[in-house]
Amino acid sequence: MAWRHTGRARVNPRAPSAFGVCQGCGFWYNLDNLAYQFEWRGPRLMNTRKRVCPKCLDKPFIFNRPIVIPPDPVPRMDPRPENFAALDQGTYPLPPLPWPVQPVGPVNPSAPAPPQFAVPQVEPYLPPALPPPFVPPAIESEP
Ligand SMILES: [Zn+2]
Repeated sequence: MAWRHTGRARVNPRAPSAFGVCQGCGFWYNLDNLAYQFEWRGPRLMNTRKRVCPKCLDKPFIFNRPIVIPPDPVPRMDPRPENFAALDQGTYPLPPLPWPVQPVGPVNPSAPAPPQFAVPQVEPYLPPALPPPFVPPAIESEP
């Protein structure tokens, strides 16, 4: 009786099974033993439709997966950040605000009057004067 080469596939005449060629090494295997190769495509795994044997089956390369940075935290309402610019200039405590601040709560008539802050005067913007127009020198024509 002649025996046919079947590679790494097993033959069972009582339970026949399909053969398949591994797309990694080229050996014959039972098709049930070949697995699909998956790979990272964007943020999820995708089937590359390659059927490979267990020896050729690769773990999906994790560095093909993009890094998804979580969103920024939700900002708080009415924050009170430190004025680091004033701290760096050594003008701490902070200078008064350039706008009047309304007192909170009932007004005490015996309290001193709130200070009046002067709004800084800013010079109005004037566009710079244009330079005089260019006048080409006269070309002397030969007699
Ligand atoms: Zn293989």
